[in-house]
Amino acid sequence: SNRPYIVGNWKMHGTRAMLAEARAIDRAAERLLKVEVALAPPFTLIHATRKEAELIGIGAQDVHPADGGAHTGDISAAMVKDAGASFTIVGHSERRADHKETNALVKEKAVSALAAGMSVIVCVGETEEERDAGKAEAVVGRQLTGSLPTGDGVAEKITVAYEPVWAIGTGRTPTVDDIGAMHRHIREKLESIYGEAGASVRILYGGSVKPDNAAELLAADEVGGALVGGASLTAESFLGIIIAAA
Ligand code: 13P
Repeated sequence: SNRPYIVGNWKMHGTRAMLAEARAIDRAAERLLKVEVALAPPFTLIHATRKEAELIGIGAQDVHPADGGAHTGDISAAMVKDAGASFTIVGHSERRADHKETNALVKEKAVSALAAGMSVIVCVGETEEERDAGKAEAVVGRQLTGSLPTGDGVAEKITVAYEPVWAIGTGRTPTVDDIGAMHRHIREKLESIYGEAGASVRILYGGSVKPDNAAELLAADEVGGALVGGASLTAESFLGIIIAAA
């Protein structure tokens, strides 16, 4: 689809009290069909959110690479799918940092989600030190090569999210030109990995997207939508972003 794709990542936020926000987002999405909307609540709310929402996509924030087994506290792709998730995020920078996730592990997770019949949002992005050292494109290129699953029909199931680590939760964003340059670089990589199919993989921008900067950021080259953290936690601010994308 070439509709803008706006995905809310609730991170480690949300108890059942927040289901009202999901319901309000879903109801409003009915009038905003130009935009594809999805939410990734914590595991504990996937099933309940799926039941609240009729229209929007529901996904997980992570999955374990194995189908099942002795992995206390972990959750498999088949489990989140059974709970109602149709996609999962993998490789978020917070997981790469908090849980020392490598590109190879992120790729295994993506492969496992695809095998379960889900689509996958693969996150990449450089740190501030890497950007200052002029290495941002090289880092993101390596993350893409190392984290993206390959094979027939895979590109159609993949979305890439570019989230510069220094822009997450900070209120700082790259310039529109910098976002455009990185997204063009990602597009080239996708075409070299997937061939022609790489041309239609959606590339989302994430990092301090808010209602008042969304229109500008979404207009950058090769930006197919946004992955939104803090501003996805209330229907009011998330809908502000969705309206800006419409
Ligand atoms: P913020 O929108 O809170 O900066 O978070 C972005 C993000 O990490 C989404 O995955």
